[in-house]
Amino acid sequence: MMLQKLRSLFSSHPQPPLRWLNLAVLCLPVAVAATLVPWFGFTHGYDAVEWLWFLVLISFCEMSITAGYHRLWSHSAYKAHPLLRLAFALGGAFALQNNCLTWASDHRRHHLHADDNEKDPYSAGLGFWYAHFGWMLRDYPATREDLGNVKDLLKDPILVWQRRYYLPLLLAMNIGVPVLIGVVHHDIAGCLLLLGFLRLVLSQQFTYLINSAAHLWGKRTYDSNQTARDNWFIALFTYGEGYHNYHHTFAWDYRNGIRWYHYDPTKWLIKLMQWCRLASDLRQCSSYRIEMTRVAVQFRTALQHCEQLSEASRWRERLEGEYNQLVNSLEQWTEAQQAWYQAKSQAFSNELQHDIALIRHRYRQLKQDMQQKRAAWQQLLAHVGTVPLQSA
Ligand SMILES: [Zn+2]
Ligand SMILES: [Zn+2]
Repeated sequence: MMLQKLRSLFSSHPQPPLRWLNLAVLCLPVAVAATLVPWFGFTHGYDAVEWLWFLVLISFCEMSITAGYHRLWSHSAYKAHPLLRLAFALGGAFALQNNCLTWASDHRRHHLHADDNEKDPYSAGLGFWYAHFGWMLRDYPATREDLGNVKDLLKDPILVWQRRYYLPLLLAMNIGVPVLIGVVHHDIAGCLLLLGFLRLVLSQQFTYLINSAAHLWGKRTYDSNQTARDNWFIALFTYGEGYHNYHHTFAWDYRNGIRWYHYDPTKWLIKLMQWCRLASDLRQCSSYRIEMTRVAVQFRTALQHCEQLSEASRWRERLEGEYNQLVNSLEQWTEAQQAWYQAKSQAFSNELQHDIALIRHRYRQLKQDMQQKRAAWQQLLAHVGTVPLQSA
């Protein structure tokens, strides 16, 4: 009877069978975090040292997923020293998001079949709940394990080791670490609740936001045909993974937030690891390609908008003209920039100084020209874009 009630809670029509182990492992910590954690906080309290540990450990968990499971292993966005890979493997077990081979396999399918409800393991097309949490609770065909797409990762002995000893590792990290800190700090119960349960639940929920919220709310700057969005607010909770439209467009880039002001601590950590010689071969998309992609999306969107204007054909013509001019200007400026950087790196002989000055002058002129065209383009977009698109 109880079982039937619970089943009806999750299914209104025939559904794949529930994964009871996942249900227990994922929901029990949520129940403890929602009840015992605040109760202990009100009755005993947590001190500053415990909150500091909480911040350190939640960052360790989340960054092991974002910098390790995600950008390193799923997308090969850079290479990492075995010590760093070991730390990420331990952090991944701490985050309790399955072993990395399974995680990366699911994630590669998510990118390959994004928004395909039959093949994307956490397709946002099936709604917030499914993409956030629901996909793990039932035996959906798209979520069944198939490591055929991670053969490269099977060569990494750290990942094979992590998969083999995943259970003892997750127990050691999730119970052993909080209890150990608790023993040293003379508050085992408080540390277990705060560093064990609350840290685990929040780090998991924040990561899940990337699959749900970052596919539902935000801007589609680089590819308007997919659900992935750029959302700075989600980036705050996900250590920089909120710039998800960019990520789905250039998944192999070690950055998600590409501007200096974008909040992307994962990008900063990878860069820091490079300085410490623990990371290398960071892959990065060129500014030119990023800009061309962005402008092409603006152009296509503006063409749709201008259909709503009177004299649509005149606007379309103007858009095409200014778009072509901007693209030409961007191409010329990029070439001049490369020539200038090359000349700078070879500027050691006095005879070449005159040529170098000419190259620099041309580069600066073209930069000015490109900036003017970009400003004119923005003005045109602002005008055309003021008419909202008709809903389908
Ligand atoms: Zn995604
Ligand atoms: Zn990804």
